Amino acid sequence: MRHILLLTTGGTIACRDSGHGLAPALTAEDLLAAVPAVTRVCEVTARPLFNLDSTDMTPKEWLTVAAAIRDAYDCFDGFVITHGTDTLAYAAATLSCLLQHSEKPIVLTGAQLPMGVPGSDAAENLKDAFAWALSEGARGVRIVFAGRVIRGLRARKRHTTDPDAFESVGCPDTALIHDGQIIRYGVPVGEGQGSVTDSPLMPPHEFFEDLDTRIALAHLTPGMSPFVLRHMAEGLHGLIVEGVGIGGIPDTLVPVLTRVAESGVFLILTSQVPYGASDFTVYRAGRRIHEACGGQVVTARDIPSEAAFAAAMWAMAVSRDREDMAERFARALRGADL
Ligand code: ASP
Repeated sequence: MRHILLLTTGGTIACRDSGHGLAPALTAEDLLAAVPAVTRVCEVTARPLFNLDSTDMTPKEWLTVAAAIRDAYDCFDGFVITHGTDTLAYAAATLSCLLQHSEKPIVLTGAQLPMGVPGSDAAENLKDAFAWALSEGARGVRIVFAGRVIRGLRARKRHTTDPDAFESVGCPDTALIHDGQIIRYGVPVGEGQGSVTDSPLMPPHEFFEDLDTRIALAHLTPGMSPFVLRHMAEGLHGLIVEGVGIGGIPDTLVPVLTRVAESGVFLILTSQVPYGASDFTVYRAGRRIHEACGGQVVTARDIPSEAAFAAAMWAMAVSRDREDMAERFARALRGADL
């Protein structure tokens, strides 16, 4: 029998009414008791890590999750993590960066309604997460939710209440799960590397233990004061700038962003439009920042901002050398489809 490690962190899936609103209360055993079919097909070791609303999960907690997986990696065939949905995309992206090229499945799930509540999606999601973790060839970090299997660096929460709450941005889902049946989609070929998911060509796993949390995300708005950006960038190592459209930065913000870049802050450009890659070379309104910063900026292409944020935390923890960071960030982008 395969052996799966279940790590619980809280979230709606584990919530009960506290009298002051929903709050995580259920234990790992409570969750497992609701899906008896799971323990008939595999051995499960449950390890509660936190009981938090994911609003309060931070990179520090995700480092703890990653460490729990790293320490137990050789003893289990796969890992299932229950987590709140509100920051689940950040969690999946961060774990994707910390636990790269995992040969074993690392599966995150949660629910829009607590386990045991009428109409809850919790039991189905948890069963599906185990089904994926036990399936042949499953590897890497994935979110399993509402029957979708989504790559960790591609996920975004798209709905506050609908059970089908997550989508894969810029890349198809890995698979669908319906009534316990797994339907896999085609396998993407890694850009220019000939590397294929589940292929022996995939490099061996590489795990990391650090994140640089001096990163922020700036959503630019029309007429935004340069003062806001200047203050926001103080003490940062990296700033992800969500421009408009395919790639536009208001002219009034170019000088302050240039100064921010010159002061040593790593600038990553992305778009606030959810679909389609960003490209800051199409319009003059985008090129200005490249010209002003002398090529000192990188773009996040088509990955969601949650993933850009995670990739920046990882890239900057490893090295503060600008070229190294840019190369690592590009590597994270390449890994988005693996
Ligand atoms: N606030 C909850 C959380 O993120 C929402 C959920 O899990 O669906 O923990």
